[in-house]
Amino acid sequence: MNSTDAGRRRPRVVVVGTGFAGYHCLRVLERRLPDADLVAVNPADYMLYVPLLPEVAGGALDPRHVAVPLRTKLPRTRTVLGSVTGIDLTDKTITAVDVEGRRKVLDWDRLVIASGSVTRLLSIPGVAKYAKGFKSIAESIYLRDHVLRQLELAEQSDDPAERGARTTFVVVGAGYTGTELVAQGKELTRHAGQDARWVLIDMAKRVLPNLSERLSGPARQILEKRGIEIRLETSVSEVTRTCARLTDGTEIPTRTVAWCVGVRPDPLVEPLNLPTTKGRLNTDRFLSVPDHPDVFAAGDVAAVPDLTRPGEITPMTAQHAQRQGRVAGINVAASLGVGRRRRYKHHDLGFVVDLGGWEAVANPLHVPLSGVPAKIVARAYHLLAMPANRLRVAFDWVADLLTRRLVVHFGLVPEEGISLAEADGPAKPQDRADGFAGSKAG
Ligand SMILES: Cc1cc2nc3c(=O)[nH]c(=O)nc-3n(C[C@H](O)[C@H](O)[C@H](O)COP(=O)(O)OP(=O)(O)OC[C@H]3O[C@@H](n4cnc5c(N)ncnc54)[C@H](O)[C@@H]3O)c2cc1C
Repeated sequence: MNSTDAGRRRPRVVVVGTGFAGYHCLRVLERRLPDADLVAVNPADYMLYVPLLPEVAGGALDPRHVAVPLRTKLPRTRTVLGSVTGIDLTDKTITAVDVEGRRKVLDWDRLVIASGSVTRLLSIPGVAKYAKGFKSIAESIYLRDHVLRQLELAEQSDDPAERGARTTFVVVGAGYTGTELVAQGKELTRHAGQDARWVLIDMAKRVLPNLSERLSGPARQILEKRGIEIRLETSVSEVTRTCARLTDGTEIPTRTVAWCVGVRPDPLVEPLNLPTTKGRLNTDRFLSVPDHPDVFAAGDVAAVPDLTRPGEITPMTAQHAQRQGRVAGINVAASLGVGRRRRYKHHDLGFVVDLGGWEAVANPLHVPLSGVPAKIVARAYHLLAMPANRLRVAFDWVADLLTRRLVVHFGLVPEEGISLAEADGPAKPQDRADGFAGSKAG
């Protein structure tokens, strides 16, 4: 179907991706441009509050509660359920493939690219096939189901070696994603009544290498006190169905390797041949793409100058993506004659890392905290930052505190498992061009 309509009078704004940046951009556009035609293209009908995914994998939160429904929160936006596969800057059109494989062409007067990032898959043998990704609701549920099933299969086995392998879980990457996942995973297996072995691996010299050193020490202590093994300055050289081989020669028998080594920008912007920084599309401080005043970009996919650190670009965090989305919305409206445009400047407010139980580390306004005070800050931060479902998330947390966690798996994972490359639909051809593959956020 071709959705370009020559007689259209109302300006059309198309937003690619409804994650942190796209969602908050559309919220602003709905208020500021009551007469514009607003279209969002996204593979799912929700905005995913990604920072709480580790708690979904750990079974503390209902998956639906981290999904913000677009239908009710963005009533004026038409959502096309699908993925943008091409952008034509000359004809001002995008091509999208909807969830049933149908191709659509949509024209735009203003385009906002907010398609985020994909899991970074280094070309290490076996990773794409055997490692588990962790960036979407589907992947979190697969992982939880897989972990619980391994525990049950271990109980049924008479072979001690097999039992050991099935109850060993390896998480690669000690950034905030891997650190939170290993903490929540250990909690999950504890709730399931098993003393499982959890191993956290990273090339870096410390856990949380990209965050303040004052968070790393307490985080490491908390994890080690729970019995989680931490192996630093080490990486994985191969993953097979039954083990993880490390670069220091160690072989860890396991059926579970979770891949949390970070992300790279969405490859959608590569064919545009526009200037990029580390694969992210360059913008000016107004989030506009240079020489293309009708095109804006925000969030992980965009290289936005960090005005608080001259010469640097803003990091890939939800904190920036959300605020950049809002500024992109303001500036799109300004470009259509509504309001004045604004430059993007945001001082980092610090970071929170929830480690399950009563533990967390945080540095709100760069004051380092750990234990219960950090936990309170972490939870308050998420409740404030979540665009919806706050009450439901709060109820889940209270229920988890007062009642036994519901440890069930839904049998969603086929016997052979689900590989990183196929977890969220087939990767695009360009994902594989350089020896990398990508797994999409949902
Ligand atoms: C497990 C995990 C935990 C995290 N925890 C934190 C945290 O605690 N604090 C923090 O600040 N940051 C955290 N982050 C990082 C944070 O989630 C990202 O920086 C943030 O989501 C970026 O927002 P975005 O809008 O750029 O992209 P996203 O939120 O990823 O949204 C991109 C959207 O675009 C869609 N999309 C992608 N390609 C296309 C396409 N071709 N066509 C249409 N739609 C497309 C995606 O499906 C998605 O809905 C975490 C990330 C992960 C994976």
